[in-house]
Amino acid sequence: MFIMAYSACPLFAAAEYDPIVNPLAVYSHELTTDNLAKLQKRYSVILSSGTIGTSFEGREIQAVKLGRGNHKILICGTLHAREHICTNYLMYFIEQYAEAFVSRDSIGCYDINQLLNEVSLYIVPMVNPDGVNIVQNGFEASANCDSLVKMRLKNYEEPAHRSWKANARGIDLNRNFDYGWDNCPNDSLPASSGFKGFSPLSEPESRALADFAKRIKPEAILAFHTQGEQFFFSTPDSCATSLAEKLVAATGFEPQPIDPPYGSFQDFVNYHFGVFYACVELCNYIGPRPYPECDFFKIWQPARYIIPIVASGIIQKGTSKKP
Ligand SMILES: [Zn+2]
Repeated sequence: MFIMAYSACPLFAAAEYDPIVNPLAVYSHELTTDNLAKLQKRYSVILSSGTIGTSFEGREIQAVKLGRGNHKILICGTLHAREHICTNYLMYFIEQYAEAFVSRDSIGCYDINQLLNEVSLYIVPMVNPDGVNIVQNGFEASANCDSLVKMRLKNYEEPAHRSWKANARGIDLNRNFDYGWDNCPNDSLPASSGFKGFSPLSEPESRALADFAKRIKPEAILAFHTQGEQFFFSTPDSCATSLAEKLVAATGFEPQPIDPPYGSFQDFVNYHFGVFYACVELCNYIGPRPYPECDFFKIWQPARYIIPIVASGIIQKGTSKKP
């Protein structure tokens, strides 16, 4: 429902809208699902949503396609359960940009109509919904509670469920991809974080993301995490290097060297696609706990142009290739 705001003077003030996304709320899987359905209804002209798979406990892993251009970019967040503020970031982004498209507004120096006519952003706001459920509602809220309470706790504080990073089977999704997996140190058993699984792509959540990426064949990929205001880049060509430099300049985040392959999503991307990749660590280091939603705008502010910077870079690269 749109709310029109009128000023006391005869001239209309700018139209305002009634936001669906509240970035200061705790984004559970249920709230994310609810908001995505509402966003799809309101912004169907530029946004469609669907699912890319189902989690171990049967939750749908949703994805949104925002934009209608030929250039495809894949964006995902919350592979790690306690990092669910990344879902807030992506949900807020989706609404801001969909609204700017229908209102023909610019955001910063970006003409959003032009941008979303040239790119399609495939966004997965919550890759690990079962893990998020554990962090937000406790072990007893998980269908796998009996196994979870016996698993090893690593880098945690009490109450321990608030520090959970893995999925509901104690597997760290960002160690479960199929390139470099053999090299990842083997913690032999499921745990709150860091366990790579008994075989690569053993988890429905990592498989769903891998299959989705292979289906859409993106030209650039972004994955949002939380700790440290840093980037881990893959820059296979000069366009990617220049994009990385722009992101560092815009955010002030530190680029970090990447580790040898260990089964991460970044390793999967490098091996199968060889495109620009950025792992974005959105927040300052706060320890093994979720980032407080009340401080959302502290992370939004420096990071708000990350996606349009990458989108415009990919558009420019496409343009410069044409004869
Ligand atoms: Zn993470």
